Amino acid sequence: MIPLRIQVEGATREDPFVVRLSGATADTTISGLWDALLVHSEDEKCAYQTRHGELRLSGIRSSDLAGDVLLVDPTRKVGHRLLRAESPHNAFLVTERCDQICTMCSQPPKRYHVDLFPLFQQAAVLAPKGMTIGITGGEPMLFKDQVFELLRRTLAARPDLSFHVLTNAQHFDETDVGILRELSNGKVLWGVPLYARESSLHDAIVRKPGAFDKLMNSLGVLARGGALIELRTVVLKTNAPALESLAEYVSVQLPFISKWAIMQLENIGFGRMNWDKLFFDNSECFAPIGAAIDVARGRGVNVALYNFPLCTVPESYRAFAAPSISDWKQRYLRECDGCVSRKDCGGFFTWYPEARGFSRLGLEQIEA
Ligand code: SF4
Repeated sequence: MIPLRIQVEGATREDPFVVRLSGATADTTISGLWDALLVHSEDEKCAYQTRHGELRLSGIRSSDLAGDVLLVDPTRKVGHRLLRAESPHNAFLVTERCDQICTMCSQPPKRYHVDLFPLFQQAAVLAPKGMTIGITGGEPMLFKDQVFELLRRTLAARPDLSFHVLTNAQHFDETDVGILRELSNGKVLWGVPLYARESSLHDAIVRKPGAFDKLMNSLGVLARGGALIELRTVVLKTNAPALESLAEYVSVQLPFISKWAIMQLENIGFGRMNWDKLFFDNSECFAPIGAAIDVARGRGVNVALYNFPLCTVPESYRAFAAPSISDWKQRYLRECDGCVSRKDCGGFFTWYPEARGFSRLGLEQIEA
């Protein structure tokens, strides 16, 4: 697995701070104040000169860190790789609080919140050119003012960047239309989950009465604000039979969305606890997903499949499957050795349970 936390020693201050690590590919043109200069490198040990002392990092080569933006926690002697320069998968986890308790949540909510927005703000302006940064939680929009301010200030300073904000869309109201319009320059994509057209089924999945109605209201606000919306639907045993009906609803009632992502389940958090009740094996039965894609595509909706190994998808639908699993939590199985489709396939989550997963996998499926 790609390490996201590194052991760091030598900081001369106690409170957390952000630095950008220099290297051959580092862009150091924005603010030298925040740059850390590589002064020593040997195997998996390296040292950087910073304005907060000489930082000694271990467990990773300096060549793998060039241009990374690190959040250093001197008390815990840990560096969090907030932005990895060579990766397209970077996100700020802005809070672990949430007001829903989704049955498949990969990151179950916690009560406490540590406010790191000022550090995220500093990190964002140090990002490599053209990077897309995820904003995730918990529910980021529980801290709506801070998120809007982070987006507004960063994009003013760095118009080359983009953001992908994951939100349950329970917290938008008419007063947000103005700031959404200000941000509606194609640089912010709002990823919003919708699990069924029936409010009772959606509310049961997110385990929050009234969530569907609030979501519909928020989608209206986002649309009036000119926001780019990526609707996201995790396929479960509970909602798969209603997927075609949801496709009709999306294409008729929500024609303003930019994309509809139909997603496979992740076996972690509540997704792991409830796996046997929820996992829908599309390698056995793709029909409801295929029908939903047909309806949506027929009405002009831009559809994508996320987290689907290519060999679990019928050949005629494989073009919709995006390699969506983040590099740091992605793996391939023995079945993938020698697979001709591997370069286009996102593979599996690191925590995919082979004994309780897809029943049909591998090269024979690709060649069938
Ligand atoms: S066998 Fe090929 S298509 Fe199937 S998961 Fe592995 S790489 Fe992807």
